[in-house]
Formats: sequence, C-alpha cells, structure tokens
Amino acid sequence: MAGGIIASHRFRGRTDGTRGNGLNCANFPPGLYCFLRLFSPLSSPGPSVNSTQEPIQSPLFVGVDVGGTNVKLGVVDDRGALIAKSDFPTCEDLGPQYAVDEARERIAELFARKRLDYAQVVAVGLGTPGTMDIKQGMILEPPNMPGWRHFPIRDRLSEALDRPVTFANDANAAAFGEFWTGSAAQYDSLVFFTLGTGVGGGIVIHNLLVDGEHSLGGEVGHIRVDWGADARRCSCGRPGHLEAYSSATAIVKRAHEWLPSHPQSVLHTCLEGELTAKEIGDAAERGDRLAQLLINEVADYLARGIAIVANTIDPRAILFGGAMTFGKRETRVGRGFLERIRAGLQPELFPQMHQQLVLEYASLGSDAGCIGAAGLARKEHQQRIASQTKAD
Ligand SMILES: [Zn+2]
Repeated sequence: MAGGIIASHRFRGRTDGTRGNGLNCANFPPGLYCFLRLFSPLSSPGPSVNSTQEPIQSPLFVGVDVGGTNVKLGVVDDRGALIAKSDFPTCEDLGPQYAVDEARERIAELFARKRLDYAQVVAVGLGTPGTMDIKQGMILEPPNMPGWRHFPIRDRLSEALDRPVTFANDANAAAFGEFWTGSAAQYDSLVFFTLGTGVGGGIVIHNLLVDGEHSLGGEVGHIRVDWGADARRCSCGRPGHLEAYSSATAIVKRAHEWLPSHPQSVLHTCLEGELTAKEIGDAAERGDRLAQLLINEVADYLARGIAIVANTIDPRAILFGGAMTFGKRETRVGRGFLERIRAGLQPELFPQMHQQLVLEYASLGSDAGCIGAAGLARKEHQQRIASQTKAD
C-alpha cells in the first residue's frame, strides 16, 4: 500500500473528528510530541482561519514538491484551493534527510504564521523528480541529486509529519494538479507535457493518474519521434526521444547549431550571456525568423509525440506547462505554437478526435506540483475512508 506509516491510534484521532485538543505525550515519542505541540491548539487555538479571519472547516492536505533547486510546500483545502505556501532551498548536497527535517520545520512555521491548525491536516502528498519505486516509497535515481539515491523518502516524511504520505513523480503530480483545479478541471482526461530542462509529463484518465507498473507512467518525454540514423540523443541515452527535440535545453542547443547560417538573427546579440528559450520566444515575438523556425521545429516534434499518445488513449485535453511556454496565449508566438501543433496533428488523428481535442496551456504554474500532490493525498485518504467504512 502506498500510504506510508499510519499508526492506528493516530489515524482514529483524525477520522473521528477530534481536533487534537487531547494530545497525550504518552502516545508519541518525546521529540515528536514537542513537534506536535507546535501544531496543536496549545499554540494555535481553534480551527484555522483564512485571510478574512473566517474559520476553515475543511480538512487540509499538505503538498510537498521536491525539485533540484527548491522544495515547495503548500497547504490545500478540500476543494483544491492553495491557502498557504512556502519553499526552501533543497541543498541537495546535505542529503534527503535534511530536506525531510527542514520540511517539518518549515511546515510548522507556515502553520504558525498563517494561524492554521495542523490537526486539520489529514494527509500529505509528495512529488519528487527522477526514477522511483512508488509502491515501496523509494526515490531511486533523481537527476543531478546523487546523494538522494535509494532513499525511503515516503516513510521518512510520514514519520516526520505524523501523517500518511502519498508518493508520486513530480510531473505526474503536476498533471493531477491541473486535472483537479487547473486548466483541465472541466475535462475527464488529459495528457500533460512539461517543457523545461527535459520533457516530463503525466496522464490522468477519469480521475486515475497513470503511474504505471514501474512508476514510469506518463514519461512522454521518452516517446520516440525520430527514427533517422542521425537522431539526437536523449538525456536517458537513447536516440530520437521527444525530450531531445522539444525541451528548453533542446531548442537552445538547436539555436547554436543554426545561428551560423542565420547571420541576421537577433539571437546573435543574446550570445554574450547565456541564450535561453525565453529569449528565443521574445525574439520570435519581435519577428525574428530563426527564432520562429526553432519554435516551429519544437511544435512539429511535439505533434509527433502527441499523435502517438493521443491515438493510444484518446484524451480530452493536452496541456503544456513548464518553463518553455512562449508567453502562453498572451503572445502571438504562444498562440501560434498551439496552432502549429494542431496543424501537425491534423494528418495523424481521426477527424473527430482532432476537432475536439483541446490544446491548452497549464494554469497553475509552479504551484501545480504541490496542489497535485495534495490532491493525490486527498484521493488516497478518501479511498482509505471508503475501505474502512466497508470493513466496518
Ligand atoms: Zn529518453
């Protein structure tokens, strides 16, 4: 079960509606008891209040989104509203236990600062990058985080926060966030593409996140889009994968390759610093021909990848998020990017699918991972309640 450590006496305390005013040190180790007191009504009297000082009656969920640079923390209510958030540097070299301990401290601070009551938290969601074993709660080999390999992060976080923890891939969690409260909230299914350093993603079908048998579900960046002998190498080492064509890293690499044959491009002036996907988008918005060619190529390869997954699962919506979204619908380039993808899909899809498939940008930004992780925790919590009710 992917539910983490749940001591039965603690769990009963949350499901029977008590709010923790009877915290008993005999039930908890001394250090944990001190920690829980921070969250208890002893230091945070009464139910949580929102910015208008109205009590928050909803059960609360905490989302923890681990990234290579920062760990983001969010407190989410039962409807998916993000009511408080915080973050801290991952300090990758200090290892995962440091991050777990720091998350505990920062969450305590956040609840105290926002006058929230930790007793209302019923479950925690956790998203981490890289490969993982979701069933075992293990983070396996996160990229660029060598000190984090093979760490039982789900159970360590569950111990630290004294709540069941639901564990997910970070991009999958973000996809679920967009499905729950973001751009795909009105749809039954979506495929989410995060365009950043790599290409991540997630698939949600009828409220079910597809995390897969080997915790590799939704790895859309590793769909093969180029079978040529000179196909580009993906970060995973294999040739022709979407990530090597449609990530922010890939577009910058391609720009360097094409710049010598485009002496008029304004991108030459960007070379004094470090050329970025954002600068390419800005240059295209100003009419730069090379920048537009680069973006078109990204869109064309994305269409190839989307066609494969769309023909497999027939989703209602495809969303694009991450660092490389070209100003979204607010810019001519952002709108044109979606149109270009739609045109590339036209010969590949059944007409009814092509006509009705929604192509849209994600709306939750960098909060998607936290909100989605919290949403997955909420879903698992509801399943636990349902199965307990059945057993009773
Ligand atoms: Zn790959």
